[in-house]
Amino acid sequence: MRFADVIGDKGLKERLIRMVEHKRLSHAILFREEPHGGGLAFALALGQYVNCRHRSDGDSCGICPTCNQFQKLIHPDLHFAFPVNSSRDVAESQKGRPISDHFLDNWRELVLNDPYFTEQDLYDAIGIDNKSGNISVHEARRIIERLQLRSFEADYKVMVIWLPEKMNQECSNKLLKLLEEPPTGTLFLLVSQAPEKLLATIRSRCQLIEIPPMSAEQHQSKPQEPLQEPVEYRDMLTGLIEAGISKKLIDTFAIWEALSDMGREKQKEFCIYSEKFIRKIYMTSQGLEQIAGIFDQEKSQIRDLASRIKPDFYEKALSAFDRTISAIESNTNSKLTFCDLSNRLLLYL
Ligand SMILES: [Zn+2]
Repeated sequence: MRFADVIGDKGLKERLIRMVEHKRLSHAILFREEPHGGGLAFALALGQYVNCRHRSDGDSCGICPTCNQFQKLIHPDLHFAFPVNSSRDVAESQKGRPISDHFLDNWRELVLNDPYFTEQDLYDAIGIDNKSGNISVHEARRIIERLQLRSFEADYKVMVIWLPEKMNQECSNKLLKLLEEPPTGTLFLLVSQAPEKLLATIRSRCQLIEIPPMSAEQHQSKPQEPLQEPVEYRDMLTGLIEAGISKKLIDTFAIWEALSDMGREKQKEFCIYSEKFIRKIYMTSQGLEQIAGIFDQEKSQIRDLASRIKPDFYEKALSAFDRTISAIESNTNSKLTFCDLSNRLLLYL
């Protein structure tokens, strides 16, 4: 998940990004949220951001291999612990000691569908009926085991603990030990709705971050259409993409001219819009349409492009737009700048 896709306080996103950039990020962060408050979304965006290979413009790139695996919640250095209980679906041999690992598929499906779920949504998803979940000492042992491994490829191993207040005493003591002597390169992200129920010693080891309550509009997690949807930009970008796919250089000329004639601010706006749109196509091609922030009227076009664009296009295209933005900012000749961009897109498709 990128910060841009997190519904919630913009100021907080900027603060987290500054903490990373200024190397002031603690090894353990305790997010306090209201139920349905978006703490998990912030944690996932932060975990992805610290590990992204090409972060730029205050966000992760969303398309490097690391981002891709984080977005699908399958990165080998991304770990989860959340409250569970015994359920019908867990193998008989594991019945007495359920841990999060037994429910990872349900968890991924739930989070990818809507990261703003409630505690009850989780229990429904993992099928523990009317029992409430807890985080047991078996879970703590599993956490220790996983964090003792060297990280596979990421800079940080990310351990997300959702609702740590559900840890029992024994588990809390083990976690405290870990927080006191953290394995190198580990980032603990605790998302709590009742941090006062945690051991004071655990709280004091974490950097507390309050998630401001969401406004009524923010609660509607569906992306809202902007008042003036930039159809013009969309037509120009998809025109360039279609010309690239069909290798019809001539079709790019009119678009290239129109782009060169726009003012610099609009040119930059077009590039930023295009980067967002290309990420949406990429996410759709990766089966992540649900969390790509796609508007209804873009959907069919994005799906169609996702099925026709080559997988290696996205990363190269984003770099081409980054270069174009830098060129615009340094007042390079517009015609040359957009000629270069059109050619590159044509080449990459
Ligand atoms: Zn990335």
